[in-house]
Amino acid sequence: MPTKVASQRLFLVREEHAAKFIEEFPDCVGSNILSVGLTVEKATLDAKLVTSEPPVGAIRNTQAARPQRFVNERVRLTEAGVADLARGVRKKLIVWGLRYRCGGINTYVCESSTAISATPDATTQLVGRSIVTGTTVVATDTMEVTGKTWIRVGPGWACCVDTHTGAIKLRAAGCKRQCGGTCACAVDCQKQVKKRHECDLQIKFERTLTLVNHGLVRVTVTGQHTDSRTAWSPLPVEN
Ligand SMILES: [Zn+2]
Ligand SMILES: [Zn+2]
Repeated sequence: MPTKVASQRLFLVREEHAAKFIEEFPDCVGSNILSVGLTVEKATLDAKLVTSEPPVGAIRNTQAARPQRFVNERVRLTEAGVADLARGVRKKLIVWGLRYRCGGINTYVCESSTAISATPDATTQLVGRSIVTGTTVVATDTMEVTGKTWIRVGPGWACCVDTHTGAIKLRAAGCKRQCGGTCACAVDCQKQVKKRHECDLQIKFERTLTLVNHGLVRVTVTGQHTDSRTAWSPLPVEN
């Protein structure tokens, strides 16, 4: 029985497909992935071993204060980079890298079949579709209506509890918030920072000289959305 969650997951993707990782990797779908910054040391940047250009056809915000960065940037070796690669030095050095973290994912697990309504209202009409028991859905929006949480999924809204009996239908299973709430804030949360999550999911896109030469990007995923380690307790260490 595993007692430890894998600390990191590594992937290699082609430069031109790097942006698809955030769209398609299961842990990223539906989550709010935020840019954190560069992973490259200043001295490495100063050495100018690579150049980077936005991907072909990139839609750029010309008003942005800082140049926008893309995980699928076209990165090429400079003469200095080519020379280092040929000499076999700085082999493990990260010469280009961008870091991201999860800013929250609102995942819900369906405990009992739930009909989808057109609006978050118990008296509104149903759209003729429902969430089936056992499925996991990602809420794109949430709303509190008379003390009940409604989530937006696909064609409409679903109530997390039975509107008559109050029994749980959709169980929050997404990122934990700082206040201890899951997906939504805990009842006693002061909501100082409404969207602050404690999720430790991080994604790094990095390249070494060799990877740049091969047009590849290394993706490292660490952490996970929900701290499932809190769901079990290890046996106490024997004295
Ligand atoms: Zn909170
Ligand atoms: Zn998360």
